[in-house]
Amino acid sequence: MTTFTGPSGLPPDADRRATRAEIDLDVLQSNVEAIRATLAPVVELMAVVKGNAYGHGARMVAPAALAGGASRLAVATVSEGRQLRQSGIEAPILVLSPINAQEVPLALDYGLDLAIGTQDLLTAVVGAAEASGSRPGVHIKLDSGMHRYGADADLAISLAQQVGSNPSLRLDGLMTHFAVADEPDDPATDHQAALFQSVLDRLRAQGIAPERHHLANSAATLRDARWHGSMVRVGIAMYGLPPAPGLTLPDGVRPVMTIRSQVARVHRLESPEAVGYGRTYSPDEPESVALIPIGYADGYRRAFSNRGWMTIGGRRAPVVGRVSMDQTVVRVPDAVPVEPGTEVTVLGAETGPSATELAEAIGTINYEIVTGIAPRVPRHYLRQGQVIAVESLPG
Ligand SMILES: *Cc1c(COP(=O)(O)O)cnc(C)c1O
Repeated sequence: MTTFTGPSGLPPDADRRATRAEIDLDVLQSNVEAIRATLAPVVELMAVVKGNAYGHGARMVAPAALAGGASRLAVATVSEGRQLRQSGIEAPILVLSPINAQEVPLALDYGLDLAIGTQDLLTAVVGAAEASGSRPGVHIKLDSGMHRYGADADLAISLAQQVGSNPSLRLDGLMTHFAVADEPDDPATDHQAALFQSVLDRLRAQGIAPERHHLANSAATLRDARWHGSMVRVGIAMYGLPPAPGLTLPDGVRPVMTIRSQVARVHRLESPEAVGYGRTYSPDEPESVALIPIGYADGYRRAFSNRGWMTIGGRRAPVVGRVSMDQTVVRVPDAVPVEPGTEVTVLGAETGPSATELAEAIGTINYEIVTGIAPRVPRHYLRQGQVIAVESLPG
């Protein structure tokens, strides 16, 4: 990598872009503490930091989650686990998704625990564990009704027997995942939990005791302690976002991410002038519009064209015309003084729009909004209101 150092005196990795995502690590940590406080003391909390911590930045979020009382971390891929190990994280890390046999040696090198739902993957793990002597933790993944990843009941029992009797492996857990934990009236969650319990009982009857058993995502964690098992796997809720619109978060849990930008240009749009690609918006009366330097290459979705909104001066500024790759135009709210440099909230805890509101505007879920914020948007990490680190495109 070439490093350009100019006369500016700024560090070469400084990112002074107006558009940035503030990640409040104090809020993240206190969210984990607040969720932890709703659990029985013996129940472990696994912080789910896959998808670069749902777009918040896994390297900085993981230590804050551990400081808040999480005892373990979960990722989706081996490279996500490797990133955390390379940043010095020593806590147990579980890879939730299926991996390829070719990835297994790397996963063991990095001391990652694996969720296993197929005989082929277990066979690969046994081979690699015996070759390396590393004794990885294995979580047998039961498919209790979601029909995505996992073994059916009989295969799960067979896999657990094989792990339990192999001194090269640790039977670290039995796990399953709910399909509709966020839907209060659906009996499927209870059916899944009952099947899970029956598999656990059958194993125990054979003297096989997984070190922990876990089923609950955020929605199940919030809804019913009967589903907590001996550990919960919490993702979206610790970022301060509800897993579904009707689910309330524990008191004090607040959104961690705020995206801010600054007006780059203000101009008057005369009728019938139109704005942006496709000329999709034209005002009936002349109006002031402001250019904001964020677009779909930042993860500010093109679907927000003529649908999304930002906040300027405490008032709602609707997106007008199409979102383009790097720029978006909004209507300036009446009676709000706006000039180049004026601060804009693109997504925010205090003023809105929240990730949930933006998701609802375009028919998706808050998970996808925050996870989709691109690496190009610098993350400003806050402690006590001060920026303690800035991360942008990996160097
Ligand atoms: C992503 C994931 C979670 C966390 O889900 P949230 O709804 O974000 O809490 C838990 N378990 C598994 C297996 C997952 O893939």
